[in-house]
Amino acid sequence: MSRYRLLPTPAQQVVLRDHCGHARYVWNLAVEQHAHWRPGRKGAPGYLEQCRQLTQARAAHPWLAVGSQTVQQQALRDFARAMTAFFDPGHPAGRPSWRKAGRHEGFRIVGRGRQWDVRRVSRKAGQVWVPKAGWVRFRWSRAVPAGAKSYRVTMDRAGRWHVAFAVIPAPIPAPGNGRAVGIDRGVAVAAALSTGELLPCPALTGRERARLRRLQRRLARARRGSNRRGRVRHAIARLKARETDRRKDWAEKASTGIARRFDLIRVEDLQIGNMTRSARGTRGNPGRNVRAKAGLNRGILGSGWGLLVRRLQDKAPGRVEKVRPAFTSQRCSACGHVDPESRESQARFVCTACGFAGHADVNAAINIAAGHAVTARGGDGAARPVNREPHLLLRPA
Ligand SMILES: [Zn+2]
Repeated sequence: MSRYRLLPTPAQQVVLRDHCGHARYVWNLAVEQHAHWRPGRKGAPGYLEQCRQLTQARAAHPWLAVGSQTVQQQALRDFARAMTAFFDPGHPAGRPSWRKAGRHEGFRIVGRGRQWDVRRVSRKAGQVWVPKAGWVRFRWSRAVPAGAKSYRVTMDRAGRWHVAFAVIPAPIPAPGNGRAVGIDRGVAVAAALSTGELLPCPALTGRERARLRRLQRRLARARRGSNRRGRVRHAIARLKARETDRRKDWAEKASTGIARRFDLIRVEDLQIGNMTRSARGTRGNPGRNVRAKAGLNRGILGSGWGLLVRRLQDKAPGRVEKVRPAFTSQRCSACGHVDPESRESQARFVCTACGFAGHADVNAAINIAAGHAVTARGGDGAARPVNREPHLLLRPA
């Protein structure tokens, strides 16, 4: 998401406010319809049913009918997505709630080329096409992402307008080779593949990190509200932005490569992973996230990993399976023997039963590749969990 200050004319502001009002009305209508629904009852109306109701509502309310159908339908689509997220057992979101006038003002437009477009008109100004409002100026504070597919217009409590462009990458077609890959979240690198590849996620260089530490010390000494403090903060923000950019770039490239090469992509379920990881690997085996040294990199690697998985889900919808991570790091990928002692060190796995030795994260990735999904997440989010124990737990150890 990249956000820009939107500068509508007074006439355009009237149109934008109407769009916000309509989007809010339609959203709240959907919230109301779902409010009385409980699991087990007859289903609340789905998106298509709600679209039919929207047509009726437009016929009944002229003020709604004069508004943009595009804006109103999109609000319903957004609501449907919010409900899907709410019911997603892997990453449940909050239940979509009421939107209040003056507090949650905004609407979303998709369909670039048909419904909207964006163009640059001068060095510091761009224009975005909004249905019924026409070209609306915004501050061209940085380049608009080339792949922007949709945007959201919002108004904050101070009455300022913003436009944020969202980049949803086009799905990459499956290669059709029947190959599955397992990806494990590593410690020394962000991700390990079951093919044996290690994918290091770039961070700041040693020099950049040293500079960051110096700046942070300087910030602690700088007087509040001083110009110097402002400059130091700005320098820190720029360094951190550089790191974020590298991580994003890495996640883009890595996810594209993986989505192109494999039909099925299996990753550990992060949510469950967080719960089991600390308990994993006791007795002389420090476990993977426990050590202080790992803690240093954890945040960086963790966010790189999260980004990678999100991008994979975007680019390979329906081809990413989340696997329960239980014992993936303790199980021998060669013979199936499960023993925390096999985890010789952070990086090395040596099976206590058959002697198989290899990179610990790659060994885990092979287990993940063979694992059975407990949560399948399709691109439309419609898939429901298959609640059963993964097979590798049932095999004799
Ligand atoms: Zn073994």
